[in-house]
Amino acid sequence: MKIDVLTLFPAMFEAVLGDSIIGRAAEKGLLHLRYINIRDFSEDKHRRVDDYPYGAGGGMVMAPQPIYNAWRFITEPLSYRPHVIYLSPQGQVFSQEKAKTLATAYEHLILLCGHYEGVDERIIEEIVDEEISIGDYVLTGGEIPAMAVIDTLSRMIPGVVQHGNSESESLADGLLEYPQYTRPPEFLGRKVPEILLSGHQAKIAAWRREQSLERTRNKRPELLERMKENG
Ligand code: SAM
Repeated sequence: MKIDVLTLFPAMFEAVLGDSIIGRAAEKGLLHLRYINIRDFSEDKHRRVDDYPYGAGGGMVMAPQPIYNAWRFITEPLSYRPHVIYLSPQGQVFSQEKAKTLATAYEHLILLCGHYEGVDERIIEEIVDEEISIGDYVLTGGEIPAMAVIDTLSRMIPGVVQHGNSESESLADGLLEYPQYTRPPEFLGRKVPEILLSGHQAKIAAWRREQSLERTRNKRPELLERMKENG
């Protein structure tokens, strides 16, 4: 999968996604990430990328031209149009299900990160296919939301996480994951459930399913309701 990010702060991505699982996936060529600095495409002699909003009001707005030029830089050599997502508090709220849809449907994504009061509306009309929010709260920029999207999508690429782990994880099947334990078998007087030490895989699977249902019922009952509604 290929993801191009249009941002004013490419170093933020390198710092966060350069290491660990995502960094290794990129090194192995499972994931192609590019962070494109919108400022490099400004036509202003001071490399400005923002301006005052028409109609007054506080804050600044990201101007359309540098974003458009950066988008053209990505798309001009291509024979297809990558799917463009604008990270925005006005978008559809991101979920595991949405991540799965994106990972299945698109080979190449462009993520546009806004800042200040956001981007000029005309750039949304011209290049954006959909808006995605990471929750009903407002952040200062789209970089953290874009990283959340990249991280979630990366885990769905075969080979990025081990042994198909992402399939048993919380929300993959609409339920929360069962509790996890590692060594030692006893810690501060708390024992690992006996069943997990039994080596009986069928019984362990049944226990985990029951635990998944119970914690979903206790922590996120609305997920069970949603599963019932969706049949
Ligand atoms: N004035 C905008 C509004 O009210 O819709 C909010 C702008 S916000 C301060 C600056 C940028 O942060 C946005 O352009 C967007 O890219 C990003 N952002 C803020 N909250 C977000 C959220 N919940 N999900 C995704 N992106 C968000």
